[in-house]
Amino acid sequence: MKRSLILFAFLFLSGIIFAQKRKEIIFPDIQGYKILKCDFHIHTVFSDGNVWPTIRVEEAWREGLDAIAITDHIEYLPHKKDIIADHNRSFEIALPAGENRDILVIHGSEITRSMPPGHSNALFLKNSNLLDTAKYIDAFKAAKAQNAFIFWNHPAWSRQQPDTTLWWKEHTELYEAGLMQGIEVVNEHEYSPEAHKWAIEKKLTMLGNSDIHNPIQMDYDFSMGEHRPMTLVLAKEKTIEGIREALLNRRTIVYHNHLLIGDNAYLKELFEKSVKIEKVSRNNKSIRVTIYNSSSVPFEIRKVKGNDPNLEFFRELKIEAGGYTSFTVYEKEPTKNTSFNLQLEVQNLLVAPGKGMPYKLAIQVK
Ligand SMILES: [Zn+2]
Ligand SMILES: [Zn+2]
Repeated sequence: MKRSLILFAFLFLSGIIFAQKRKEIIFPDIQGYKILKCDFHIHTVFSDGNVWPTIRVEEAWREGLDAIAITDHIEYLPHKKDIIADHNRSFEIALPAGENRDILVIHGSEITRSMPPGHSNALFLKNSNLLDTAKYIDAFKAAKAQNAFIFWNHPAWSRQQPDTTLWWKEHTELYEAGLMQGIEVVNEHEYSPEAHKWAIEKKLTMLGNSDIHNPIQMDYDFSMGEHRPMTLVLAKEKTIEGIREALLNRRTIVYHNHLLIGDNAYLKELFEKSVKIEKVSRNNKSIRVTIYNSSSVPFEIRKVKGNDPNLEFFRELKIEAGGYTSFTVYEKEPTKNTSFNLQLEVQNLLVAPGKGMPYKLAIQVK
């Protein structure tokens, strides 16, 4: 008895010491699609990263991701004296770790050229070695021949675009040849309004990725609520094919800090399914409203023009994530109205550069 108690205590304590926790990121399904949390731009020691591929899978699991792409550079291999391998190896090492953790691992590579056209990621490759070509265009064609999905990385990177984020004629050539299907609107800590604009105009898939080189916690302080940028993929199913189909059909939302960047229709449904008016009570000239937000993202709402001049309410309000938020609407002249519309903008749901999502919040007094 005593021995089993000691054993139990030991197991219990070691459980505490060694427990690994996954942080779940909560979003509702949209238009019947599951939201998969993905990072399609990750480096390991097999190019210029400082982390072994299996650790990338473990980091992704703990952060609540569903899929990652290992995208080591083809051309830039500063560790090649120590890490002698071909371009497929980092993916091959990460893949079984992903199977253990239920993290989809996508075979990718970063085509790393000077500007133009700069850097691009190719996903869903079969053999990365075929991208090791003298001319950049041959690397793109080799990726396309493997049915890859290709996107332009960090278009605003200051080392390649020192003053202005430019779209070069080489990008038009790639785009028209079907060799550029997406663009990073967010890379690492940087949002690019130009990339956002081009994605809308040219119907490119929007991506937000970490481009992580160090252990993830060196760049993001989870204790402060920080997270890596990610691409939310609206997928029919959690499979590699499900992700590919969604990327080809531009069903993504970029999640960066507290920003969600994407098409109005997706963001509107995400907001409406996350936020529920729990309680409305009237007290003479004031109406008290309580809202519940079931998602992992707070919403920053702001009053815009076009509101009923008899109503007085907040200028800005933060609807907290995973909890309740209350506010009061006052009537200058008391009425017996039982329904009110508030004209708002959700500032952190970005439908275009500098433009939050317009939203009419309908409130019903019960
Ligand atoms: Zn790059
Ligand atoms: Zn990179």
